Amino acid sequence: MNRRIAVVGAGIMGLSSSLHLATSLRLDGVPATVEVFAETFSPHNTSDGAAGLWHPLPDSGRETDWAFATYDWLRFLMRKPIHGLIGISEFSGFRLVSQDLGQEDPIWKDRIPGFSFLTRNEIKKRGFPSDAAGFVYLAMMIQGNRYCQWLFDCVKRLEIKIHKQKVESFSQFVGQFDVVINCSGLGAISLCSDNEVEPVRGQIIKMEAPWIKQFIIYNGKHQKKAYVVPCVDYVAIGSTLQPGNWDRTVNPDDRKMILDMCYELEPSLKKARIVDEWVGLRPGRRSGTRVEIEAVSYKNGSIQVVHNYGHGSKGLTFHWGCAQEATRLAYQALGVVGRQKLADQLYGLIEFQSKM
Ligand SMILES: Cc1cc2nc3c(=O)[nH]c(=O)nc-3n(C[C@H](O)[C@H](O)[C@H](O)COP(=O)(O)OP(=O)(O)OC[C@H]3O[C@@H](n4cnc5c(N)ncnc54)[C@H](O)[C@@H]3O)c2cc1C
Repeated sequence: MNRRIAVVGAGIMGLSSSLHLATSLRLDGVPATVEVFAETFSPHNTSDGAAGLWHPLPDSGRETDWAFATYDWLRFLMRKPIHGLIGISEFSGFRLVSQDLGQEDPIWKDRIPGFSFLTRNEIKKRGFPSDAAGFVYLAMMIQGNRYCQWLFDCVKRLEIKIHKQKVESFSQFVGQFDVVINCSGLGAISLCSDNEVEPVRGQIIKMEAPWIKQFIIYNGKHQKKAYVVPCVDYVAIGSTLQPGNWDRTVNPDDRKMILDMCYELEPSLKKARIVDEWVGLRPGRRSGTRVEIEAVSYKNGSIQVVHNYGHGSKGLTFHWGCAQEATRLAYQALGVVGRQKLADQLYGLIEFQSKM
């Protein structure tokens, strides 16, 4: 019996969930069709513009697991010759926090190469804010536009059907599909009547500064947050975190604040040219990311929905771990028993498809 699965959304969550699920089903020999329904596609989604740092803090059981599943996947891709083309890079860098907010001691420090705490002397020598404490570690950068375009290409190669369509209600899938994977980001406000979901406005500046090879994240007092993230094509600096703000236009006051903060962290940026400015709305969810299964009933019947939305400022960090969990939940909904797939099997299938 052929199973039909609808995935709503084509941001990083919808694309990685479709890809992970379709390849897993294929490798497990389960006859199934995966179809993507989305109102907008790359390069017009939040996922395309995101700064791109894999950043797993604060520690939290489930989220740390998602972050590390993603980390393993990204390090795996990093070893492939295409990593630059698909927007993946690896740099060491600094996570700094104002000492008044308390020293961070992440539970994952032994899992990350090159992790060490910074001494007062190192902070001073590098010219970082004098109130800062922190550590250095090796992290992954994901340039959203390149990576999402690659995921989209993989999805097409796997012959996953794509529908450009706004879904008004999951009821349209009742009787036609076995399961829906809901990766609608902010769309969950209306699709699931989820009042916990809200936009968290983020403005960033993309700069031409190829000499910058280290990332810096600074979490200061009075909500002073700044980062400098070297991606493949530019260095992203930011940002604002404004819950409830739907304004997608670039704000000059925010621009000034970002530049002032980032010049303080990395003075050489003063010599860099601005190549782009962008505002995105993070799909925030006050009670945290929702990855769970729900049977939803409508007048025309019911359908199982695997939710995968509300990733806030961590969607790039969590995406592969959440895709794995969405696959596990979809298998549960379909009553299918599967094996845990290795990343290279998935990748092998994608590469194989790309040669066809
Ligand atoms: C300035 C900024 C910087 C960021 N930096 C980082 C970072 O460094 N690291 C990190 O981990 N994360 C970062 N993020 C967060 C990250 O971008 C998001 O968490 C992630 O993009 C969310 O992905 P998504 O697929 O859920 O949403 P989206 O990319 O918004 O995609 C949602 C999809 O759902 C579709 N959709 C919605 N409703 C419907 C409907 N009714 N019918 C059909 N389709 C629908 C949309 O068309 C779209 O295709 C940043 C975000 C911003 C704004």
